[in-house]
Amino acid sequence: MKLNGTSSNTQSNGTPLNGTHKNSYALNGYHDELVDELGDAHGASSLETPMRADAFAMDDALKIDLIEEHFREIMTILGLDLTDDSLNGSPRRVAKMYVNEVFSGLNPANKPKATLFDNKFRYNEMLVEKDITVQTYCEHHFVPIIGKAHVAYISSGKVIGLSKLNRIVEYFCKRPQVQERLTMQIAGELKRVLETDDVAVIIDAKHLCVSTRGIRDTHSSTITSSYGGKFEEESTRQELLRYVTQPGVTI
Ligand SMILES: [Zn+2]
Repeated sequence: MKLNGTSSNTQSNGTPLNGTHKNSYALNGYHDELVDELGDAHGASSLETPMRADAFAMDDALKIDLIEEHFREIMTILGLDLTDDSLNGSPRRVAKMYVNEVFSGLNPANKPKATLFDNKFRYNEMLVEKDITVQTYCEHHFVPIIGKAHVAYISSGKVIGLSKLNRIVEYFCKRPQVQERLTMQIAGELKRVLETDDVAVIIDAKHLCVSTRGIRDTHSSTITSSYGGKFEEESTRQELLRYVTQPGVTI
C-alpha cells in the first residue's frame, strides 16, 4: 500500500501519517500559498495537454490497478475505514472512472474519426451547433467544470456529421483541462478536420472549484471563445452571437 517516494516515515501498518514529510512542491521551492494561487489563477502552461513521453507505456488494465491502489492509500490517509462495505469498492470505481470514462480523452486512440462529406447542397452559410454539453475536469483541482459549448463553421467544400461535432467536444472534455485550452483544442481539431480556418468555438461553463470551494461563488460562469478566419470579421461574429443568444428550440 506504500506509495514509493511519498513518505519519509511510515507507521507499522505501512500508512504514512506523520507531519514531517516534505511534498514535491516544497522541494521544488514552491510553498502551499503559491500552489493555491497558481491553481486559482487557472492559467494553462501550453495549448497541448502536458503529457509524459511514456504516457501509454502501461495498458489501461494496469493503470486501473495502480490508481485503485493509490486511491485506497488517499482514503486511508484521510482516516476512512476501507473495510466498510460502502467504501470498499470506491478505489476501484474511481480508478475505472478515471481511465475508462472521464480521462479517456487523454489517449489519442480514442479520438473520434471524422468522416467528411461533399457539400452537395453548396450550403455556404455558417452552420452552428449550439448548447453542446460540456463536462470536464479542472486540471488544478480535479473537480468538474460543467457548461455548454457552441461551435460553428463555414464549409470549405466539405461538411461533417453533426454528431461528430458533439463527439469532438466530448473527446477534449475527457481530460483534465483548463477552459481556455479546451476551447482552443476543439477549435484546432475542427479546423484540421474541416480544412478551414472559418471555425468558432464559445464555451460557457461553471467551475466547481470556484462554486464549491475557494471563493465559493455559485452564480458566476466563465466564457471563453476562439474565432478563426471569417469569424474574425465583426458582421460574421455578430451573426453567430445572435444565433447563440436566441432562445433554443424546445421539442
Ligand atoms: Zn480549478
